[in-house]
Amino acid sequence: MLERFFPNYYTDKVSDLKTEFFTERKIKGILIDIDNTLIDYYENIAEDTLQWIEHIKKSGIKILLLSNNNKDRVNRIGNRLGVEGIYYAAKPRRRGFVSAMEKMHLKNHEVCIIGDQLFTDIYGGNRLNIFTVLVKQVHERDIWITKFKRPLEKHIMRLFLKNDDKMAKRRDSWKEKSAISKKIQEKN
Ligand SMILES: [Mg+2]
Repeated sequence: MLERFFPNYYTDKVSDLKTEFFTERKIKGILIDIDNTLIDYYENIAEDTLQWIEHIKKSGIKILLLSNNNKDRVNRIGNRLGVEGIYYAAKPRRRGFVSAMEKMHLKNHEVCIIGDQLFTDIYGGNRLNIFTVLVKQVHERDIWITKFKRPLEKHIMRLFLKNDDKMAKRRDSWKEKSAISKKIQEKN
């Protein structure tokens, strides 16, 4: 039941994720959340995050911002980073993820979503069997709507993290499902 909110992978910050992390999993495109994943409430971007973005861009892995926030904020951050973005993505609904994959010309088993929220980024990605990576929120301050969801998210993460088996199962279930969807897509 709660497993739909569990990520396939969990790490502290985006800069922990080296290029090999993606290539080993045959991931060709990264969908990434903005608020509290790349930037804090005040729109500060950490130096290691900026370097990571540049590194990813040079590596040939595609990257696209996927945010529920408004056009102005997404465009402003997109311009600063030199990365295209989708605003009002309505995560966890499917349509934002689907437009992002269409934009990148990639299938679900070829992309991952990185974000700081279980109920939007992770749940949304899991619904489409996209590889999901949870990172710690970069700053404690959230926009008001997120603030209410945090205690429950923290509770679910505690349940998840104390069980290594569950984490391993999540990784395996993605591998199995991806192999199946890849086969179906290759046939068509
Ligand atoms: Mg966020």
